[in-house]
Amino acid sequence: MDKIVSLSRRRGFVFPSSEVYGGLGSTYDYGHYGVLMKNNIRSLWFQAMVQERDDIVALDSAIILNPRVWEASGHVSGFTDPLVDCRTCKLRFRADQLEQSSCGRKPSKHPGETPDCNLTEGRQFNLMFKTQVGALEDESSTAYLRPETAQGIFINFKNVLQLARRKPPFGIAQVGKSFRNEITPGNFLFRVREFEQMEMEFFVPPADAERWYRYWIDERFNWYLKYGVRERNLRKREHSAEERSHYSSGTTDIEYLYPIGWSELEGVANRGDFDLTQHTQHSGTKLEFVGDEGERYTPYVIEPAVSIERIFVAMLVDAYDEEVVAERDRTVLRLHPAIAPVKAAILPLIPRNGDMVGKARGLHDELRRRHIVEYDDGGQIGRRYRRQDEIGTPFAFTIDDQTLEDDTVTVRDRDSLAQERLPIGGVRAWLEEALDRPWRTPSA
Ligand code: ATP
Repeated sequence: MDKIVSLSRRRGFVFPSSEVYGGLGSTYDYGHYGVLMKNNIRSLWFQAMVQERDDIVALDSAIILNPRVWEASGHVSGFTDPLVDCRTCKLRFRADQLEQSSCGRKPSKHPGETPDCNLTEGRQFNLMFKTQVGALEDESSTAYLRPETAQGIFINFKNVLQLARRKPPFGIAQVGKSFRNEITPGNFLFRVREFEQMEMEFFVPPADAERWYRYWIDERFNWYLKYGVRERNLRKREHSAEERSHYSSGTTDIEYLYPIGWSELEGVANRGDFDLTQHTQHSGTKLEFVGDEGERYTPYVIEPAVSIERIFVAMLVDAYDEEVVAERDRTVLRLHPAIAPVKAAILPLIPRNGDMVGKARGLHDELRRRHIVEYDDGGQIGRRYRRQDEIGTPFAFTIDDQTLEDDTVTVRDRDSLAQERLPIGGVRAWLEEALDRPWRTPSA
């Protein structure tokens, strides 16, 4: 993980937040390449969930909802983790994760393992961030930053049903920030307090719920394979009945082999009719489906839920590679071209040569209308290639002496390092085609 964190920082993907003020534990800001890569993850998720389907529509609900939403959903009373304090080192730990935590005084030990440790009894700690709405600061103005996007979907079920003229099976997809006051955030972006969730609630007739649950586990698993994540680093893990939330009749985690071990990347749950029933009871508005023949039922819900952060880390870890080429070390991010922040670099071989620069600028202007591409004339060509390798740019077009003679350029492939020549006028079509090709990592 250290290598990923340091590359992310060095190349401006992700910085510790509020750094000039000493940071704010486990909070991060995204730089240019981080923003581009996040945009790609978000839009490829949206493409698979909404754009390429007839049965899912989009929603963007508010972050601060009526607080009664969180009473109905069970979050006010039950969205808690068990917490213990250490009276000696003054740190807080999750009572159920002591074996993964480090004691504040002796980092090689776990809390409770040294004679000095003095842990309190466990108590439940609510993970929702509280805030105040309006100028009054009393109980009646208490509100919460949403800890998940899903509830914003359930409370809009009726709107979508009527206005989007849908009937089960159909889904509502939403992407947006969620907030959890995690007791022990950490492992880079894996567990943060502010993250961007991508959730989809799929409403189905109860009798079909099991089939759709299995369907969504496979769909989401295959999405990761499509975008180049190695199958050996992915697995499905079905929760046992004891592990499942009270409302769930089936939960499967899609796990990734992070540097911290197998951990939840995405969760797929069969939530039954719990959420719609709860909101019906608390709001007095019937959230049910009524068919043309008058049949009525409360649909079951299948939910695939993931954060961009967990995908971001998994994809960086999966893509990171080091090798020696021509006796020199090379660090390369073998990202799927659709995920890579920059699709191509345009490099004039000799930056002082005005003709080369002119041609390179012209090509850059043509390509940038359709793709994120980067013009770079800073430093030796080898160093420029290395820089692009480190941010995962799949292709580099170089303008050289021969370009001035016959209007051809070389294209260099990030993974194979193979080079070929192309007419400059055909680069745009070539790039289009290359970005569309299925891609698999050459790494073992
Ligand atoms: P965990 O057990 O790891 O805390 P969870 O089971 O509470 O996760 P869910 O409530 O199912 O997580 O949230 C759905 C998804 O949101 C998770 O699969 C994960 O991708 C993401 N997620 C949850 N909490 C965080 C967090 N603190 N930071 C980043 N992503 C998160």
